[in-house]
Amino acid sequence: MSRDRGIVYLIGAGPGDPGLMTVRGADRLARAEVVVFDHLANDRLLDLAPARALRIFAGKSVGHCTLDQDAINRTLAEHAEAGKIVVRLKGGDPLVFGRGSEEAIFLRSRGVAFEIVPGVTAGVGATAYAGIPVTCRGGSSAVAFVTGHGDPETASGRSRLDWPALARFPGTLVVYMGVTHLESICRTLIREGKDPATPAATVESGSLPSQRVVSATLGTISELARASRLHPPALLVVGEVVGRREELAWFESLPLSGQRIVVTRPRDEGARSSDALEAMGAEVLLAPTVEIRPIEDVGPLDGALDRISEYDWLVFTSVNGVRSFFERLFERGKDLRALGGVRLAAIGPATAEALDRFHLRADLVPPSFRSESLAEALAGVAAGSRILLARADRGRTILQDEVSRVAEVEQVAVYQNADVDRLPDALVDRVVEGSVDWITLSSSAIAARLHALLPEPARRRIGREVKLASISPITTKAAADLGWTVAAEASAHTWDGLIEALVRQVAAERAPA
Ligand code: SAH
Repeated sequence: MSRDRGIVYLIGAGPGDPGLMTVRGADRLARAEVVVFDHLANDRLLDLAPARALRIFAGKSVGHCTLDQDAINRTLAEHAEAGKIVVRLKGGDPLVFGRGSEEAIFLRSRGVAFEIVPGVTAGVGATAYAGIPVTCRGGSSAVAFVTGHGDPETASGRSRLDWPALARFPGTLVVYMGVTHLESICRTLIREGKDPATPAATVESGSLPSQRVVSATLGTISELARASRLHPPALLVVGEVVGRREELAWFESLPLSGQRIVVTRPRDEGARSSDALEAMGAEVLLAPTVEIRPIEDVGPLDGALDRISEYDWLVFTSVNGVRSFFERLFERGKDLRALGGVRLAAIGPATAEALDRFHLRADLVPPSFRSESLAEALAGVAAGSRILLARADRGRTILQDEVSRVAEVEQVAVYQNADVDRLPDALVDRVVEGSVDWITLSSSAIAARLHALLPEPARRRIGREVKLASISPITTKAAADLGWTVAAEASAHTWDGLIEALVRQVAAERAPA
């Protein structure tokens, strides 16, 4: 698309949970050529921008920007003037304590087009995840969003806000940016006449897996918050509505809430795998140890594709195998009719589901999702037939070995498994600190690769502070050979089985002894 003029979309990213950005925001982000984001916008959202988009980090935390406001304004304008689609991604809502209006005014003054996409502001989103309704029939009929940026006990802080009026305000007070001056804010409200027995809470990192809520009263909250080492971003909520939390809290009671889990599967699969974990409240860190790449020499695959209807069975041992196989088939200008009467086998339910996406039903899925079990099932039904095994360029050969005793087996690599050279530094640091709760191991190869990629101080944490969840006894054995103890092992050897085992173990650890 050619454009003479660029545009800036000022988009609210919501309070933290990436699911809380609007559909309109996601749509604009998917078209971005430049993304300027600040630290409160969840960086997972950057995955929604095209890979080639330029990503510019604008700020570390409120008041400590790597780019100052003038530089941000200029950056936005200059890229838009160069004809680019620019997204300015801001935490919460861009116009609520977000300086979004200043940016928009600057853009207008330069004649740059902009659009504002509202977001879920923390005062509404973080409180909802804490189970605190900001208004409530019979509880509160008004809500005030207040900045706690200035210290109300100093002259400059006092001049910003009418604290006596806020103390009399007949409704809920939601104080943003109040962590530094929490004590002084609470003291001032009480001094100006607010009842110290009024329920009050702090909501830290609302809607994120690290969410923490402390509830008390206006008189006691600052001390409790200090004791719990409250960190920004956090809100102070004062009002009767805080009491509703007892009935409404939901986020912290999800089965994996507060668990930080490393997913080591290849990026494509990993991203899908993390959905289920996140839905249960976990924080997922993706650290793929292998990458899926197209095979370099497509000759053998193309040969097999040309003769595909001559086989009796086509066997898939992974989701990636299915995807890569059909991608190449379609690239060759063929369609599903090329398969003719070939029967299909899948190693497990996920692979069968991948076939299903192409409207194909697997004729055979073995009862237990392992190569041995697939080999046995195939031997039973496919003796004497011609079998094509579509697989990765490397991996266990047991299937080929076993089945070729009774049938004519040909195998063809449909994708490549390439080792990544390193893990993200931030992830390694977290393992060394022991601030990761779980690492998932979905194959023996991944266990070995992880061991090779981690430095010794990180390896030592594993099996202790950092627990392992394994997909099968074979994987558990591979981990044991590396000196690692597994804390949870799947009974059904699938990703869902692994998650189930993990949930069970977390529940057991939480249960009072
Ligand atoms: N534009 C943002 C607010 C920016 S000011 C919005 O609409 O939400 C930054 C302040 O927002 C933080 O100091 C904190 O008080 C609050 N905040 C932002 N995200 C938060 C979160 N996930 N949990 C609690 N408070 C949050």
